[in-house]
Amino acid sequence: MKRYYQPEIETASREQILAWQNERLVKQVHHVWENVPYYRKKMEEKGLTPEDIKGVADLHKLPFLTKDDLREAYPYGLMGKPLKDCVRIQSTSGTTGKRVVAFYTQKDIDLWEDCCARAIVAVGGTEEDVCQVCYGYGLFTGGPGLNGGSHKVGCLTLPMSSGNTDRQLQFMTDLEATIICCTPSYAAYLAESIHERGLRDQIKLKAGIFGAEAWSEEMRRDVEKSLGIRAYDIYGLTEISGPGVAFECEEQTGMHINEDHFIAEIIDPNTGEVLPEGEKGELVFTCITKEAFPLLRYRTRDICVLSRKKCSCGRTHVKMSKPMGRSDDMLIIKGVNVFPSQIETVLLEQGYQANYQIIVDRVNNSDTLEVQVEMTAENFSDSLSKIGEMEKQLVGALKAMLGIYAKVKLVAPKTIARSEGKAVRIIDKRKI
Ligand SMILES: [Zn+2]
Repeated sequence: MKRYYQPEIETASREQILAWQNERLVKQVHHVWENVPYYRKKMEEKGLTPEDIKGVADLHKLPFLTKDDLREAYPYGLMGKPLKDCVRIQSTSGTTGKRVVAFYTQKDIDLWEDCCARAIVAVGGTEEDVCQVCYGYGLFTGGPGLNGGSHKVGCLTLPMSSGNTDRQLQFMTDLEATIICCTPSYAAYLAESIHERGLRDQIKLKAGIFGAEAWSEEMRRDVEKSLGIRAYDIYGLTEISGPGVAFECEEQTGMHINEDHFIAEIIDPNTGEVLPEGEKGELVFTCITKEAFPLLRYRTRDICVLSRKKCSCGRTHVKMSKPMGRSDDMLIIKGVNVFPSQIETVLLEQGYQANYQIIVDRVNNSDTLEVQVEMTAENFSDSLSKIGEMEKQLVGALKAMLGIYAKVKLVAPKTIARSEGKAVRIIDKRKI
């Protein structure tokens, strides 16, 4: 069986990867300097010319781009090619402010689809497979990206798009889908529906590629067990191309970043300093092959760790951990960095659901952290001593994860307000 989509690239030596990066970065900086006045101005403000960037070692000199830059330059300000050379746009959902519109040349699309094809082959995909893509199609990158990758691998591609669970299950069983691509929460929902309808023995799935949402290891195990598959993570963002910027291999211990196209850095989100390898910080990407939307040093706001530890799959590209949170969600409590996602992980591990609120305050010049969480129908108790015991257990588990004390208050099921949009989980009274 084919283990890699592009073996000569995916298993290249570190020296070879660095050589590609050096050459492509220099070329890309010239391209941006000549074609993107918005970024050229930023470079000039730092007193830089393209000649100052001789390779990856000089990358740290370049200015950052942030989501604010994308808003300011909307819609055409960061384009590296004239519109006549572009063949597609994709866009973000625009949940936080103005949409991001990213432009692609045919070559950009082609390279993006290669990245998605690598991800599909990494989970065992071949031309024998039936790949059901239930990410949204249209402006969202999920559907078009995996669809293109699936074509390149030669899978029979089912372009289902999202929703309509009855139809999803009908195609999944009638056409014997073997690979499914969707958000992890939709995978969990599909698993539930399959069990409710007694379809489990008609499901031929072997692997799932789940992304576009944060999900925990517990959720991975649940979905793997209920669908009888192996569940793999995939990472990407519209600004940088879409899904496939990084993907998980059979080792399932982080995602290989496609370093022939993207240079990854980890920085301190407060100071912007590049951090040594293995330290946790904000992920920054530089696109070295993209033509139409060539972002340099784009701050993703995702917090993660990079690792160059040898991977058993044979791929040599650096691995990123699952994002542990967003730099703009990070709370600093008693000098310790706390991510709401860490708290959620503990709650789910301990058998609670994601119905909780985090309340941060300052009492007598000292920060306090309180976690309110709903009991579930299964663990509900009205005995005060039982509740006290359960709270104590959660305090211990949170301390082990965060390194600091958090007060825990269990509340009755369905008492924490539900939100139709993004849930309000954090109340930071220090800022009010
Ligand atoms: Zn690997």
